[in-house]
Amino acid sequence: MVVGVLVEISNQNVDRVFDYLVPENFEDSIRLGIRVLVPFGKQTLEGFVLEIKKESSRELKEIYSVVDEDIILNEELLLLGKQIQKDTLSTLISAYQVMLPKALKAKAGTIVNKKMHVFYRLNEKEYIGKTIPQKKILELFQSREEIPREELLKISTSALSTLVDKGILVPIEKEDYRMKYEAGNEEKKELTKAQQDVVDAVVSNSSSLPFLLFGVTGSGKTEVYMHIIEEVLKDGKTAILLVPEISLTPQMVEQFSNRFGNQIAALHSALSDGEKYDEWRRIARGEANIVIGARSAIFAPLKNIGVIIMDEEHSDSYKQGDKDPRYHARDIAIWRAKYHSCPILLGSATPSLESMARAQKGVYHLLTLKERVNGKALPEVSIIDMNLEAKKTPYHLTPILLNEIQECIDRGEQAILFLNRRGFSTFVTCKNCSDTIKCPNCDITLTYHKSNKMLRCHYCGYATPLPKVCPSCGEESLSDLGVGTEKIEEELYKLLPYAKVLRMDVDTTSRKGAHKKMIDAFRNHEYDILLGTQIVAKGLDFSDVTLVGVINADTSLNIPDFRSSENTYSLLSQVAGRSGRSKKSGKVFIQTFNPDHYAISYVKNHDYLGFYHQEMLVRRKLGYPPFYYLCYLKISGKDANYLFQESLKIKRSLDRNLVHTTILGPTSLAVFKVNNIYRYGIILKYKKEENLRDILLKIKNHYKTNLKVKIDIDFSPSHF
Ligand code: ADP
Ligand code: ZN
Repeated sequence: MVVGVLVEISNQNVDRVFDYLVPENFEDSIRLGIRVLVPFGKQTLEGFVLEIKKESSRELKEIYSVVDEDIILNEELLLLGKQIQKDTLSTLISAYQVMLPKALKAKAGTIVNKKMHVFYRLNEKEYIGKTIPQKKILELFQSREEIPREELLKISTSALSTLVDKGILVPIEKEDYRMKYEAGNEEKKELTKAQQDVVDAVVSNSSSLPFLLFGVTGSGKTEVYMHIIEEVLKDGKTAILLVPEISLTPQMVEQFSNRFGNQIAALHSALSDGEKYDEWRRIARGEANIVIGARSAIFAPLKNIGVIIMDEEHSDSYKQGDKDPRYHARDIAIWRAKYHSCPILLGSATPSLESMARAQKGVYHLLTLKERVNGKALPEVSIIDMNLEAKKTPYHLTPILLNEIQECIDRGEQAILFLNRRGFSTFVTCKNCSDTIKCPNCDITLTYHKSNKMLRCHYCGYATPLPKVCPSCGEESLSDLGVGTEKIEEELYKLLPYAKVLRMDVDTTSRKGAHKKMIDAFRNHEYDILLGTQIVAKGLDFSDVTLVGVINADTSLNIPDFRSSENTYSLLSQVAGRSGRSKKSGKVFIQTFNPDHYAISYVKNHDYLGFYHQEMLVRRKLGYPPFYYLCYLKISGKDANYLFQESLKIKRSLDRNLVHTTILGPTSLAVFKVNNIYRYGIILKYKKEENLRDILLKIKNHYKTNLKVKIDIDFSPSHF
């Protein structure tokens, strides 16, 4: 037997199948999608079996061993990997690796053990216990097949050993999964008519097109998802629910685990490698049939999928843009839904422009939830014009907003304050020479973190203590400008000393379990104000929050990106949606220097469609998606001059070969240098360009042995 093996090194030069001979004693274990250990040059590598053949005419090396008992990449995933390679121009091996938990990747660095556990099984059913402890133990087996050793030991050590000695009970060793979900007695909610209509449409798969669920915040989308999944399970099928990492809160997992118990598997970044590995195997073995997870959970090895749901479908966290394969989970979801002939549901209160445009054109099937479940109006939104208000106060919290916070707390209710920037201030400048302190490795200012008096680079992680004097002129005249969450926290302490403030951002939630503790504490009213970055903007459902304040709506608006308006509108709507979700009505206050910008003014009336139409005009005029496709080439390396010359060559070659494409650049990226690597970008805009992938692949291949130039290709980039 001969196998074609794809080895696990991400090198474009060896990204193909190599043939190996299989010694006879391994032949029975060989299946497609299993991993084997092979000699490769001077190395020993793991690789996937992608082909099985009878014979080869050439002299071949033998495989060393078979790594797995179970198939790692099933037939569907093997096919999907090839599609990803074709669509994104990534290597095939990277397409397969992205599907697997870290513990299953070669060179994972850590060896993740399976945890083993002893269980007992009843061997002789007729036996009646002789003592009370024996009877107690045997009683347990009336309703259960296998019982963990610890549980029986608690009843009686000696009774257990007697039963085992007599052969009444037999031990079996089983894997003990690290994650356990217990069903609670959470009552199922009766759906509203509007919700039921959505469930019916999806479950009956009334359209072969993807469904787009456009439902305002608080319209009960999560409840709809749960009902759909329940129906799908009744049919003996499985389900994937994707949520952005940031909304994959313990709250959300708890809600699903309450309803579905151990049928769920959750995949997210808060899990350890071992926990992820366990979850993955529970899924692969069919022991879990609902997968809830962030982007890469779309690759969960479920069989017989009955529905794929993508919540907050507009979220850019669904796009992997920082490394190959640069895929969008939505595309993968659509591919898998086709493979399983199952419905796919994309849900959002603020659908991406692309998705809404497709729905308007009839490429997606539009479903709508116009109202909140509780019948309450969406919160009243007020815009605070900082051009007028900023002058009246030395603080970032305006008197209007402060007054609202105070009244909210006095009523015994809670407030969420949102600022899209962590740290204390954005940068430190010298009042004497007006120099700002920059990162030595990157082209970006350092951010001041007051709690530990450190300056930090948010790009490369570089950190240094805040110097006493200006590094440029030596004067003692450094001052911090801009504003981060830490600074607002300090203002709140000063201005509302009795208010209990909980700050939540990556700096305060990095420890395991911290996130859940904070959310629980806030829900229990241990705090009055939840202050945070994006983490507080999405998915949270607190019934006593009646005030939402946005400290500075301009941070996301000022990013030089064609999506900045869309992102601002959707972010503000999401944050606003945290207010007044239960019985009490909510208010929202947005501080901004751009009160007339349409991305902000449409939020005031919760007018998504108004925003959508206006933004579509802008996109059409500028030739951006969804009217044109984009492809982004990033060219990076250490030698800036050489890099620019090569970038020009690439541009000329594209000019010669592409007919229907607009080529922009090369231009240096907004942050030109990161970690001492310089970056140029070329943007391609096109509607239809038949040979685009072939031409780009040629360019990529041309540079594959050139260590001074790295080329990254991103189709439909979420940002530049
Ligand atoms: P969305 O995801 O659309 O923002 P959620 O699914 O979080 O909305 O629902 C908002 C609130 O309404 C939640 O507290 C949820 O439990 C509640 N809810 C949803 N559907 C119903 C229903 N049919 N009856 C009563 N309450 C519901
Ligand atoms: Zn840096």
